[in-house]
Amino acid sequence: MSFDTLGLNAELLRAVADQGYSEPTPIQRQAIPAILRGGDLLAGAQTGTGKTAGFTLPLLQRLTDNPVADGRRPIRALVLTPTRELAAQVAESVGTYGRHLPLKYAVVFGGVGINPQIKQLRSGVDILVATPGRLLDHVSQKTLDLSRVEILVLDEADRMLDMGFIRDIRKILALLPRNRQNLLFSATFSDEIKKLADDLLNSPAMIEVARRNTAAELVSQRVHPVDRERKRELLSYLIGSQNWRQVLVFTRTKHGANRLAQQLERDGISSAAIHGNKSQGARTRALADFKQGAVRVLVATDIAARGLDIDQLPHVVNFELPNVPEDYVHRIGRTGRAGNEGEAISLVCVDERSLLRDIERLLKRELPKQIIDGYEPDPSIKPEPINKGRGARGNGNANAGGNGRQGNKAVPASHRRDANARKGRSGGGQPGRGKSAAAPGTGKHSAQGKSRWRKAAQG
Ligand code: AMP
Repeated sequence: MSFDTLGLNAELLRAVADQGYSEPTPIQRQAIPAILRGGDLLAGAQTGTGKTAGFTLPLLQRLTDNPVADGRRPIRALVLTPTRELAAQVAESVGTYGRHLPLKYAVVFGGVGINPQIKQLRSGVDILVATPGRLLDHVSQKTLDLSRVEILVLDEADRMLDMGFIRDIRKILALLPRNRQNLLFSATFSDEIKKLADDLLNSPAMIEVARRNTAAELVSQRVHPVDRERKRELLSYLIGSQNWRQVLVFTRTKHGANRLAQQLERDGISSAAIHGNKSQGARTRALADFKQGAVRVLVATDIAARGLDIDQLPHVVNFELPNVPEDYVHRIGRTGRAGNEGEAISLVCVDERSLLRDIERLLKRELPKQIIDGYEPDPSIKPEPINKGRGARGNGNANAGGNGRQGNKAVPASHRRDANARKGRSGGGQPGRGKSAAAPGTGKHSAQGKSRWRKAAQG
């Protein structure tokens, strides 16, 4: 089935084609026609299913099909998300899918200055993506008006409730016009969600798609504990000794991505880095080379990898664990797709213990640890704080992107998460201690990996 049959207009189909999507995901197949019909929707879907495009595409189309008559530019669609990261991601998708349309969007969330947001809101936006707290700040400052919202999306509603946003949500609902379309997306359906859905939705269409990325059953996941300074060396060894031909490697920062790609090249492994500082042309080229096998390793940041059509990879490596556990799920979702088996490997040093714990908590299981002989962590190495960059959650500036490149320049470039990486300190990617792919350890895997990791981690 192709996108053409879903009833989307030419501009949206063009944007979808730009992304390289060949066919809609199951949630898109169901959600797009349902939303285009104009009714409410209750959708069970989690991250990784393509849900964002599932609501963004028909939302854009509905706004385009029914332009406002009075020439003003009220907020006509409101998307609420639990986290800043998700808000930024959704806004980026709005920009991506709406790139050939004249609609304007903005994203507002806390932890960043409110004034640029006010300025932007004042200039008029059709679509607003927001976290509840900052949205209410704007409401109390009277810097936005929600009285003409036609479409409300609650994205990851279960997480919003888990995070204690129910009162904020109810306050926001009270500010919206009665007559509107409501779309509620949730990965789980607790009694609280059902109650919210009951109160909010009017005879909704109901769709549910299979969970895809719950630590994707098809993806075999493994942690290799290793010292901070020896990650690059271990990576080269793994690639060389296992003869991996196509590996997507994640780093936390753009600087880290560049440095690692250069170091791998020096180890004789053809590599390219892909991140937000590279021009679109350079990114496209790197991706094409990678797909064709001309480049063996693609080193990417989370933001850069998002939206890239690089499915069905055999190997994904977390050179550094992501700051946000959900990003881990995004990353490993790049492999093991469509029935193919994949392998997701994380090189984890002593500094990253709490990041790993957060990921395991999210996955609700412990990941197998395996120490590679010759790369045993040195228990005397003390953990060092991870410089999460200004883009990390909880440190006041979690703005991920919003990708102002797409014409709708809704997110000030100065707010982009990628801009933070210019600071370029991420820990990983330091030069190894002289070993390379050509001079690996013995390559035997240690049976006592887990207990030794524990011991090392306590060091
Ligand atoms: P989401 O569940 O919205 O977070 O999307 C997960 C990932 O799937 C994102 O990286 C999207 O760019 C990608 N994606 C969305 N729709 C499609 C599609 N029809 N084909 C391939 N990838 C898609």
